[in-house]
Amino acid sequence: MVSQIDFLKSLPDESLSTIQTINLPQLINKGIRLDVKREDLVHPYLSGNKWRKLKYNLLEALKQQNRKLLTFGGAHSNHIYATAAAGKLFDLQTIGIIRGHELDATNETLAFAKACGMGLKFISRQDYKNKAENSFLQHLKGEFGDFYLIPEGGTNTFAVKGCEEILSRADYLHYDFIAVMMGTSGTATGILNASSGFSHILGVSALKGDFMANEIGKLNVKYGLKGYLNYSAITQYHHGGYAKSSPELDDFIVQFQTKTGIPIEHVYSGKLFYALFDLIAKDFFRAGTKILAIHTGGLR
Ligand SMILES: *Cc1c(COP(=O)(O)O)cnc(C)c1O
Repeated sequence: MVSQIDFLKSLPDESLSTIQTINLPQLINKGIRLDVKREDLVHPYLSGNKWRKLKYNLLEALKQQNRKLLTFGGAHSNHIYATAAAGKLFDLQTIGIIRGHELDATNETLAFAKACGMGLKFISRQDYKNKAENSFLQHLKGEFGDFYLIPEGGTNTFAVKGCEEILSRADYLHYDFIAVMMGTSGTATGILNASSGFSHILGVSALKGDFMANEIGKLNVKYGLKGYLNYSAITQYHHGGYAKSSPELDDFIVQFQTKTGIPIEHVYSGKLFYALFDLIAKDFFRAGTKILAIHTGGLR
């Protein structure tokens, strides 16, 4: 843990997010080009899309001269982890409102958050449902004083702005598909808004449920974005639901890591590459298709 905290002296470096080509027979045989944008390399503990989502929120909090961040998440949330790390790195006070009770409090995410100085408050799953309601937020202000609120999963208009920076002009002009995982869909929405309507943004859902099919469309409206339509959502690769896995996925992750040297995990990046390789095997993409997969991080 101490060595982890030492890492928090270095700033996230977006220029480390380089593009790497995957050369495997399954791709070459089908004539598919698959490149990976390594957002996971931006920082060891503030990696990938969680940094992108926090960046403009941190600037906004500082602009408002508010050095206290409060946010919400489950006991294994990458967003809680990243917000705690950001607090440590930028010397901000952080408070995490955690869904469920202290019983969950021994896991690595919460231990890390505590070590970064995050204050943790555990609330029941029932109370957690009120997390966006004004009366509940007022109650929290009574308890903690004024704070800068970052919603669950970090998705808000500043997060979308940060995620737009994942995609460059060269990317959307070159690739036919940009593939990205969806939790709240904030990251995919930012990428879509940055696409200028070019390329096709393929969101793969980490959660079970058909409601995910239209989350990007909803966020487009909610945040008043340009409303590009060059996207679709794929919902059949959840492997049982959020943070769940399957023997096929576990197997795939081991194979993929061995053959490419790129680390992936079972909540997000593993499901992304599993989905792409399955779609490629089933000829979803024409020969000659160029795909850019966004590796959003999530590794410990
Ligand atoms: C949170 C997270 C996502 C999902 O991002 P959303 O903006 O919530 O859709 C994807 N990948 C990783 C590694 C994450 O931690």
